[in-house]
Amino acid sequence: MSHTVSVSPHPSPTASSTAPGPVPKAELHLHIEGTLEPAQAFAFAARNGITLPYADEAELTAAYAFEDLQSFLDLYYALMAVLRTERDFFELADAYLARAAEQGVRHAEIFFDPQAHTCRGVPIGTVIEGLSRALAAGEERHGISTRLILCFLRDQSAESALQTLEEARPYLDRITAVGLDSAEVGHPPSKFREVFAAAEALGLRKVAHAGEEGPPAYIVEALDVLGVERIDHGLRCVEDPALVERLVRERMPLTLCPLSNVRLRAVDTLADHPLPGMLRAGLMATVNSDDPAYFGGYAGENFDAVRDALALGEEELRTLARNSFLAAFLDDDEERRARYLAEVESHTFG
Ligand SMILES: [Zn+2]
Repeated sequence: MSHTVSVSPHPSPTASSTAPGPVPKAELHLHIEGTLEPAQAFAFAARNGITLPYADEAELTAAYAFEDLQSFLDLYYALMAVLRTERDFFELADAYLARAAEQGVRHAEIFFDPQAHTCRGVPIGTVIEGLSRALAAGEERHGISTRLILCFLRDQSAESALQTLEEARPYLDRITAVGLDSAEVGHPPSKFREVFAAAEALGLRKVAHAGEEGPPAYIVEALDVLGVERIDHGLRCVEDPALVERLVRERMPLTLCPLSNVRLRAVDTLADHPLPGMLRAGLMATVNSDDPAYFGGYAGENFDAVRDALALGEEELRTLARNSFLAAFLDDDEERRARYLAEVESHTFG
């Protein structure tokens, strides 16, 4: 499939830049479907002959006032109807990379939910071809290196997850890791023991959402039963001092998403977020955007928000940025990781 794309070369950051830009960072917790902006949803809907149940962008934006994780997920899955073609997935990912680059993201590890598309009759190949084509061009077009992470929907069955992994087999050269997302409570990590073991046997890395709405015990299960290498969210680990101690000892990365936590009411306000204490405890915390089109901000806005609401200083922000590269799946390109880390160390905060 070919279509015209306008290449806008991004200005590559140099040591001689005068004005300090945003701190260089990796984004490790980003659902590509969660980057669907209202304007883009209407554009894709019009192109695909789909009528959205909202009069205009303002009405759709107003629908983004969520009660909790489930009320967000209801809208999230409803809007996915506009994503139908390889071109849609390409443009979705390309638009995200363009925005992320402006905010200092150098490396992005991107989640996608194949079951949310295959259940609507969109073949997994359409999804992966579109996304991976955008990601493969990410370095040249936006200066961002990328990895793709296939997530299983935990509110679907274990059998459906196994079938999804099977359907993805022809495309595994494009996929770095598997993950686990969607409605957490009542769907413990252990439900997916078999598919995670199968993914590991196929050479895939492993991450899982745990301890967002679910209890600290789900974090323990993700570690001990699934053998994950990062915990996505992991916010509720703070309720279990022994678990915190273990996460510190094992240098287990946590991909926190502060603005998401506020919008989905995991915390009352950003000022109540436990991030500062987590850093003081020595947890390997990172800051990410989750579903930025829905939660009020991309990686840069999340960094700015925690800096302002939690009075984080330069060294704490530098630690968060450093952690993001240390926690990235860059083991096959340590030279690149070292380059990114050097950029963090030499960064001047404005
Ligand atoms: Zn998430």
